[in-house]
Amino acid sequence: MTWETVIGLEVHAQLNTKSKIFSGSSAAFGAAPNTHVCAIDIGAPGVLPVLNKAAVEKAIMLGLAINAPIAERSVFARKNYFYPDLPKGYQISQFELPIVQQGHLDITLDGNTIKRIGITRAHLEEDAGKSLHEDFQGCTGIDLNRAGVPLLEIVSEPDMRSAKEAVAYLKTLHNLLRYIDICDGNMQEGSFRCDANVSVRKVGGELGTRAEIKNLNSFRFVERAIDFEVQRQIEILEKGGKVNQETRLYDADLNETRTLRTKENANDYRYFPDPDLLPLHVSAHMIAEVKKSLPELPNQKRERFVTACGLNPDSAVTLVGQKALADYFEAALSVVPEHAQITANWVIGDLLGALNKMNLTIEESPVPARDLGTLVARIQDNTISSKMAKTIFESMCAGEGSPDDLIASKGLKQMTDTSAIEAIIDEVMAQFPGQLAEYRSGKDKLFGFFVGQSMKASKGTANPEQLNELLKKKLG
Ligand code: ADP
Ligand code: MG
Repeated sequence: MTWETVIGLEVHAQLNTKSKIFSGSSAAFGAAPNTHVCAIDIGAPGVLPVLNKAAVEKAIMLGLAINAPIAERSVFARKNYFYPDLPKGYQISQFELPIVQQGHLDITLDGNTIKRIGITRAHLEEDAGKSLHEDFQGCTGIDLNRAGVPLLEIVSEPDMRSAKEAVAYLKTLHNLLRYIDICDGNMQEGSFRCDANVSVRKVGGELGTRAEIKNLNSFRFVERAIDFEVQRQIEILEKGGKVNQETRLYDADLNETRTLRTKENANDYRYFPDPDLLPLHVSAHMIAEVKKSLPELPNQKRERFVTACGLNPDSAVTLVGQKALADYFEAALSVVPEHAQITANWVIGDLLGALNKMNLTIEESPVPARDLGTLVARIQDNTISSKMAKTIFESMCAGEGSPDDLIASKGLKQMTDTSAIEAIIDEVMAQFPGQLAEYRSGKDKLFGFFVGQSMKASKGTANPEQLNELLKKKLG
């Protein structure tokens, strides 16, 4: 029997506002425990939450970027549950009326196929605190710095059919949040977390029962956890068993998922509208203002790279796939605006290859973008050959200087003076009269021999195209 995997993803993105969603406390990560906490964050009696406008604007940005209507009126509700990291006993969230309604995101699969993934909704809510299990000798510490940090929960339709598709969707969404600059995307710090809902069914049949895998914080874990979970469910079903609807956790060390708790239903939370917060009204004017501030989106950038810069589509997809990479490319291109494709080739091929070897990200590149642009410019103006450029590039990666300094210090200038190259060819011809005679009597293959000897005589500095042309003329 063939089984089909069905995946829907819930992403919790921390919005990168300065202050929390309902108080003036700092929303910054990494401070000493419980130093970014005020009475509102812990729901002390008598306090009143006040909605942070910046969080609303960022939610609207996402809505616009995924082509979703923005609700004119949305409502904050209390989601009631007990947890040590939630001292007030409820989380303020949006339930029936979320701010962002049905939208979609297009993802690119193996190179060129585009698949549209539905996004059911995105709603604003507050993050909870954090339990700290280490360093407390048998006790658990509670850090409430995170309590009240704004979250946007982005819920997808069950549209993905494999772990790979799920990861492609997550990467596309992650990248989009970076482009519109509403989330720093730091997965280690928990700024971008994913719950994966996974089920299997007979191809084309009704949806199977899903298990939800909580709090996956790396793309690799998402892929592994889903793959494990799919196998687990298939084994159960093939033995005639039933999958339980439950919440599971992924153990990266054992590479398995385990039951965390049986799934609670919405009515277990006793949602009700928060009496301390007025319904949120978003005006057409506010949406229009946010729209004006929206930067170029990844799809628009890809389009521009192809149509305005003339890049091939594969290069455009690769560059746009990471905002920092696209920014780097554009900074390099500003030095040589007419040479987009060769610049792209250097960025995607040489630079990414080198960074990969050094285990560095594009942000950590030892080669400044403008220097890479200058290197391309020196190839284009014939100062150096492509081969020399590779040597210089290696030194740039080692932090040994700028292209122009390196060209000077290594004496790697290309020989482009026609008479100088001709002089070298004359020398070589005089040096190998036998080969010359053979060549002239029809042994064409010897042409390569003369190219090699002349190049060697120029210490590798002769411009290859000029050398070729002049050789043809002189030998023939
Ligand atoms: P809950 O709050 O209980 O997690 P939601 O409706 O908010 O429920 O989210 C459900 C998520 O699970 C959505 O991303 C949805 O696409 C996904 N989902 C729903 N049914 C299935 C299913 N049978 N298999 C896989 N994913 C599913
Ligand atoms: Mg859920």
